[in-house]
Amino acid sequence: MSDSLFIDASKRLQAALKYVSISDDASERLKHPKVSLSVSIPVRMDDGSLKIFQGYRVRYDDTRGPAKGGVRYHPHVSLDEVQSLAFWMTFKCAVLNLPFGGGKGGITLNPKTLSKFELERLSRGYIDAIADFIGPDVDILAPDVYTNSMIMGWMMDQYSIIRRQVSPAVVTGKPLTMGGSVGRDGATAHGAFFVIQCILPKLDLLPQTTTVAIQGFGKVGAVLAELLAKVGYKVVAVSDSQGAIYAKQGLDIPSIRQYKASTQGIKAVYCQGTVCNIVEHQSLSNAELLALDVDVLIPAALENQITENNAKDIKAKYIFEVANGPIASTADEILSAKGISVFPDILVNAGGVTVSYFEWVQNRSGLYWTLEQVTERLKQKMVEETEQIWSISQELGISMRTAAYIHALNRLGEALNAKGTRDYYVNGHDS
Ligand code: GLU
Repeated sequence: MSDSLFIDASKRLQAALKYVSISDDASERLKHPKVSLSVSIPVRMDDGSLKIFQGYRVRYDDTRGPAKGGVRYHPHVSLDEVQSLAFWMTFKCAVLNLPFGGGKGGITLNPKTLSKFELERLSRGYIDAIADFIGPDVDILAPDVYTNSMIMGWMMDQYSIIRRQVSPAVVTGKPLTMGGSVGRDGATAHGAFFVIQCILPKLDLLPQTTTVAIQGFGKVGAVLAELLAKVGYKVVAVSDSQGAIYAKQGLDIPSIRQYKASTQGIKAVYCQGTVCNIVEHQSLSNAELLALDVDVLIPAALENQITENNAKDIKAKYIFEVANGPIASTADEILSAKGISVFPDILVNAGGVTVSYFEWVQNRSGLYWTLEQVTERLKQKMVEETEQIWSISQELGISMRTAAYIHALNRLGEALNAKGTRDYYVNGHDS
């Protein structure tokens, strides 16, 4: 039987621990989620029946600040998945040096089967269930897979009703009119774009001669595809949950986005005005997209897409993890033996939580920034941390993933030690 997602995720921590000199206390603490909450949420459905949904919130660690992380609505949500996602948030926030710990939430459901009213009652019910567990200084929510700014707005409103005070900073990724930040919507894609733009020149890859395949054409994958195409990269394949499209000559990403906005599906099209025509292409499965012979592969959908079962089929030279946990640890060695370099999720997709941090800062100061300020500050943070992780990986001759964990561990270890460690008892301490 394969490991649980959390056990698999923890293996990356194990690999990095041998390179850092943090105390045993700190490394032991980081192996376990601090608090895990499991709730049942009763929802009155449109037909009058009562349905109970299963929800979770995990605060993995809050040493460096309040826990921070999204809420996922998906049929596969489980406590194991939410703990893994909260673990990744802990390291992601430390990688970006944000004053946050890591948290995550989720509800097990297929949101597409609920009406908008049912979805609102469910989202408010979730907040009713976890209100004592969250707060602007405790644990801050955000969007994730199948949740969006509308849902964040309901959640922040419900929390404010319960607390009897307007509390915008308890949730990020809100609608602009409720205290959201400009630039939050496209933040994960922009962050990934800045990392890619920082790394590829180091590898002597030029946009015009670099082919890219992206798995996932949702709120992150589609925006990233467009950003990359705009500066000249050849995006040859994209996919959604139904399948992939591939065109050797490159796809017209703005046309595909336009088509998707009106039909919800993706097709290889070229649009002039509102008229879209199908262009020459091949239809592929998601598995075939992952195995394409491209320079850069970008998994931007869900976790565990590349495992020991299909790692041998991967032909891309570089993988940028835009989804959380798209590569199982069991695939690491196979990919590395094939000479494939992986740029890890805890760096590549950290743009979302970074702008969430900016939103939280704006909510608390009451002073709102321009899009230029948000984009510039995001770029600066992403590039700075990417450069530092690149240096660690070059100096030690290790993968970017292990380098990113080392970078985060140094910060987390220092914060945990500052709270007091066993060393004080063993060695005493200066007054
Ligand atoms: N759900 C996003 C992530 O996994 C964003 C989290 C946040 O903004 O707090 O990074």
